[in-house]
Amino acid sequence: MQLITVGTVAFDRIETPFGIAEKTVGGAATYISLAASVFLDKMGLVSVVGDDFPESVMQQLQDRGVDLAGLEVLKGKESFFWAGRYHYDMNTRDTLETRLNVLLELDPKLPESYRQAPYVMLGNLDPTVQGKVLDQMKDRPALVVMDTMNFWMDSALEKLKEVIARVDILTINDAEARQLSGEHSLVKAAVKILDMGPKYLVVKKGEHGALLFGPDRVFFAPALPLEDVIDPTGAGDTFAGGFIGYLARTQDHSFDNLKRAIIVGSAMASFTCEKFGIERIAEVSREDIDERIQQFVELVDFDIELVEG
Ligand code: AMP
Repeated sequence: MQLITVGTVAFDRIETPFGIAEKTVGGAATYISLAASVFLDKMGLVSVVGDDFPESVMQQLQDRGVDLAGLEVLKGKESFFWAGRYHYDMNTRDTLETRLNVLLELDPKLPESYRQAPYVMLGNLDPTVQGKVLDQMKDRPALVVMDTMNFWMDSALEKLKEVIARVDILTINDAEARQLSGEHSLVKAAVKILDMGPKYLVVKKGEHGALLFGPDRVFFAPALPLEDVIDPTGAGDTFAGGFIGYLARTQDHSFDNLKRAIIVGSAMASFTCEKFGIERIAEVSREDIDERIQQFVELVDFDIELVEG
């Protein structure tokens, strides 16, 4: 395996000011795997679903080269369910409901072939489960990227900090960076969070792009201005999947390559926003992505001459 991903595989109910999806497939690991699979042939997914989860989506993941030996299907149980409502700006949302369901029973047992994967993506999930995945790796992976959210900061902060101390890169949004660090300034927040263990911090700012903080360097990537944002759910996970998928493909962890990975992740996240749920990212091709990366290059390209004196 080149990459393993742990995270939710879920049903979502999504309300935006412009429409509603009553029951659509979502989950952090679903988006991450669909995005990363564009760059990789051998990747594994660790999660749990109930037998209410559609076979057709599992098939879709397998068709994209995602191995599901690590996905437990629990008979007679319901899959994780999340409901959210977006505000008018589509950058902020309220969680209306989180039903953990099968997630309460997730005690991951990694298939043998997953235990030497050089790249590990800890998708948003109970930090105890994220930690158990790391415990089962035979050697220290080449790169561990972790995503989390305020839900786990509110309910399991100490465990969360233990796992954060074991990862290379943490990806969270700006509000979560402020909550985790207790600092309003994102620059100060980054210093505090890097002190907790990770080498790099990615702060996702939705429509306003993403910041990459290293020990002594910062990089900013904008988000592509889209004509219509239909549903931003999963944009953060798609970003993470594109980011780690690109790094696993190139196997280069220099700051310059992390910058490229941020652009790739941002390009991929823009697709997810164009339709409800996984619909758009599931159909995206390498050519679509290359074209969009080119749009990013043009978006930020400028010449400037400093005025003398
Ligand atoms: P994103 O928009 O990238 O933050 O991710 C949205 C996805 O996260 C949805 O598809 C949800 O199923 C999933 N999700 C929502 N709440 C949680 C949670 N507390 N733990 C894990 N996954 C969640």
